[in-house]
Amino acid sequence: MSGPGSGDEVRRAPPRLVDSHCHLDEPVFDADRARVLAAARAAGADRLINIGYRPGRWSSTAALTAEPGVNCTFGVHPQHADEWSTVTEDTLRGQLAHPRARALGEIGLDYVRDGPPAVAQRRAFADQLALAVALDVPVVIHQRAAEDDLMDVLARSAQPRAVVLHSFDGSHRLAAFALDRGYRFGVGGLITRTGSANLRKIVAELPLERLLLETDSPYLTPSGVKDRRNQPANVARVAAFLADLKRASLDEIATTTTANAEAVFGLRDAGADAGGG
Ligand SMILES: [Zn+2]
Repeated sequence: MSGPGSGDEVRRAPPRLVDSHCHLDEPVFDADRARVLAAARAAGADRLINIGYRPGRWSSTAALTAEPGVNCTFGVHPQHADEWSTVTEDTLRGQLAHPRARALGEIGLDYVRDGPPAVAQRRAFADQLALAVALDVPVVIHQRAAEDDLMDVLARSAQPRAVVLHSFDGSHRLAAFALDRGYRFGVGGLITRTGSANLRKIVAELPLERLLLETDSPYLTPSGVKDRRNQPANVARVAAFLADLKRASLDEIATTTTANAEAVFGLRDAGADAGGG
């Protein structure tokens, strides 16, 4: 094919990446969602996991899976723990039967922002962990300023089939706890930030075989990106940054993290996932 750029014959396709955590059904993408998805594919991120984090958004999360390569999760985020009830649990159980649902999440504990009381967050988290075990699905976990309680709830729960600590920002102690239990770690824009020296030190020591790439779009924009709205195409920047940090090749980062995402979420090719199925 001839066309712009085709003279550059040594130029290879970018390595295949998975954005394992994004929120593309947010209204902030309403005006240009198709362009954002096309940019992600052009950057190598032809598959992504869209996270359904509260009951009011589960239908838009499900609708987005009509796009090729888009799978999803459903769960109740700790900041919405006051929406957790037996009725919500029944609805969630039904949502997780969706053919493109790949995990329960994001769930967890967040004591930073003003939100539901800790006791309500713990209850919603523990109940959803139990549901994930019962349904034998992976979980995606969000944690802020709640490490001790998080480890306590997890230690009391039966072990889900897979656990991802999304946008990991924990201490050495939490990292050791998670490594010991076979959890995975989501790595995104946080590691690129000036203030994240300690996090970089911890991530540098984590085995690549346990890492997944993510953007958390539209949040957590990597440093150096002008657009304040993050988007899945930026997962390529995270991959490059991680390659530097780990002194690994970009190919090695891509191959390993993509294989990890495929294993955790049971992903198939974007083509095989296209439409209806
Ligand atoms: Zn998220």
